[in-house]
Amino acid sequence: MPASELALKIALPLPLPRLFDYRPPAALAAGQEDVGRRVRVPFGSRELIGVVAAVGAADDPDAELKAALAYPDDAALFHGELLASLRWLAAYTHAPLGEVFATALPAALRRGEALPDTHVWAWRLSEAGLTGLAGLRNGSRPRLLAERLQHGSWGEDALDDAQEGWRSAARALAQRGYAERVAVPASQLAPAGRTGPEPNAAQAEAIAAVAAADDFAPFLLDGVTGSGKTEVYLQAIARCLARGKQALVLVPEIGLTPQMLARFRARLGVPVHALHSGLSDGERARTWAAAWRGEARVIVGTRSAVFTPLPEAGLIVIDEEHDASYKQQDGIRYHARDFALVRGKTLDVPVLLGSATPSLESLHNARQGRYRHLRLPQRAGEAKPPSVRVLDIRKRPLEAGLSAELRGAIRQAVDAGGQALVFKNRRGYAPVLICHDCGWSAHCKRCDAPMTVHAGGRRLQCHHCGARQSAPNACPDCASLALQPQGAGTERIEAALAEQFADVPVVRIDRGSTRRKDALEKLFEEFGEQPGVLVGTQMLAKGHDLPNLTLVAVVGIDEGLFSADFRAGEKLAQLLIQVAGRAGRAEKPGEVWLQTHHPEHPLLQTLIHGGYHAFAENELAQREAAGFPPFAHLALLRAEAKHADAPMAFLNAARQAFPPFEKGGERLVATRGVRLQGPLPAPMPKRAGMHRAQLLLSAPNRRELHVALETALPAVYALPEARKVRWSLDVDPMDL
Ligand code: ADP
Ligand code: ZN
Ligand code: ZN
Repeated sequence: MPASELALKIALPLPLPRLFDYRPPAALAAGQEDVGRRVRVPFGSRELIGVVAAVGAADDPDAELKAALAYPDDAALFHGELLASLRWLAAYTHAPLGEVFATALPAALRRGEALPDTHVWAWRLSEAGLTGLAGLRNGSRPRLLAERLQHGSWGEDALDDAQEGWRSAARALAQRGYAERVAVPASQLAPAGRTGPEPNAAQAEAIAAVAAADDFAPFLLDGVTGSGKTEVYLQAIARCLARGKQALVLVPEIGLTPQMLARFRARLGVPVHALHSGLSDGERARTWAAAWRGEARVIVGTRSAVFTPLPEAGLIVIDEEHDASYKQQDGIRYHARDFALVRGKTLDVPVLLGSATPSLESLHNARQGRYRHLRLPQRAGEAKPPSVRVLDIRKRPLEAGLSAELRGAIRQAVDAGGQALVFKNRRGYAPVLICHDCGWSAHCKRCDAPMTVHAGGRRLQCHHCGARQSAPNACPDCASLALQPQGAGTERIEAALAEQFADVPVVRIDRGSTRRKDALEKLFEEFGEQPGVLVGTQMLAKGHDLPNLTLVAVVGIDEGLFSADFRAGEKLAQLLIQVAGRAGRAEKPGEVWLQTHHPEHPLLQTLIHGGYHAFAENELAQREAAGFPPFAHLALLRAEAKHADAPMAFLNAARQAFPPFEKGGERLVATRGVRLQGPLPAPMPKRAGMHRAQLLLSAPNRRELHVALETALPAVYALPEARKVRWSLDVDPMDL
């Protein structure tokens, strides 16, 4: 290649921290406009889809460069803000740019498929229809439909919601030549939103604050469950739409229910594009493309929706901003909330974080004045906050983990025509199978963990690696037949309740009972509003609205009170408040019963008497004293291997790559504050047959941590020990 010609510097989806030089395809000249474009290239014996990261002189001027094969698109898929934000993410996670680009693309586009067509089917009136409309019989379905279409095209989705039997009416209109079916971009449909309830004073203040921000401004909307946060989002989105802009709404995995989407559709009156893991690859790519073209105006999605292109962005909302599902736990370990804030800043639009139990990070930011703190202290409408009762069960007999008092309370709730929810954060029949004679217990061969008992005691399953086997009849150690499931999981509680409450439905909701698509929503729907009992794990903390739920019983939280994880207290407090918040959301008052062996535990006491904010103040003070986030910044280097010694050997070598923090022969003062802890075995030292260890880095100053990582990582990649392990870096890890 002549030196005057420019090479494509391509980011490939490979775990290598570098770009690859290629000649442009088909003798085309490379130009700056190619940056951000997808490109198909030969790589060894394979073909890969990469993204042009830069155009410039080849690294090795004498090398004979291979030519790229083709551009799948006419233009760059990544440009402007999204390109800049993704480069930021690669730098922040210290991950290869090619892997970040691949993560940001929907699977179909990652594989090189063409950007899909994004027109939607809609109906509109013809000239004849406009004049002939008056001749249709008053009140008839064709007349109703024609009146709707008078003011603009309607998408078929919106018609499904708005008018029963519209299809036959549409056929009747089409036969007369009054209406026609057309493919249009979603943005051309007539909005048909409804107005919501009159905002109360706190809501009005929040709505006005967000409306007054046209540039980047982060808000923390801190409001108890049912205080009308969603109403605030809807009003802010409606305003964003009225200004012709796009809105992106992130919701936790469990929060994206058909009920919630229907509420958004009905209120906003424009197509609401959902993005979640339940969609086909084709559907996901379509939504991504519609957003890229600026046609999708409202996108509601889970974690990976944070990569949605927003050429006409106006607003980003993150509902339940504290939710753990926003953190990606493998591959590129991004936090969707944090990345959304970066995008909002680059896009220069307001970002609205909402929660009834804000993360300590966000509360800290609000206290520091970095976020504007908006509060909705009361429930909206008529609903009252639930009353909370702590039930001391020391020395009391339990049946399947439930005390007699609690069962009595459930009976009362059900007899009064209400519903009860029993929350236990452990699925399966029992957490462990033990031998009553010798103390043996069933352990997973591939993990450092006990097997969970399932199917009423007949099966054993490992919740960490998925291993399954039937339960032994006799103890493998002493041959005794006295094998007993210990403790109670949701299955066992369900069985006990079904026996006692045979007159009403008892429905279990956990990952076991909701494996199939839509199963969760179907279970909720069947359950309906009749008297009955729900049993389940944290899947119950959010999701479908339950207006008839009057009693929430929380059992078996005691392990959470004594966990070594520094975030355990925060997680437990959030879970308790979220589950409790499900009670009494409508007119019926709600009650929460907390069954525990540790009624005097400070976390419970503070939470019950002072509420979440008192708990958070306490916890923040403790984090500050102990030097944990948000007062320190962490990064975790993890390694795993089949060979028991390889992870520690790699991490010990990696540790050597850090001090003495030299760059270009100069000793960097900036990295003095970085502390290395370990390497140590992981909290679960063996999982799925892999031995695991970790090295923790912490620093009071974020910048120093990143300088240290930047300096050391090239050497870490090159370590011979690195080839014997699977390793990863997690910046801002959620689990240590
Ligand atoms: P959150 O998102 O904080 O849980 P929602 O926005 O879902 O709260 O509101 C809870 C319930 O209160 C919903 O049924 C909603 O329609 C109703 N609601 C919200 N704001 C008002 C208001 N200003 N007046 C009357 N009802 C309201
Ligand atoms: Zn035994
Ligand atoms: Zn296992």
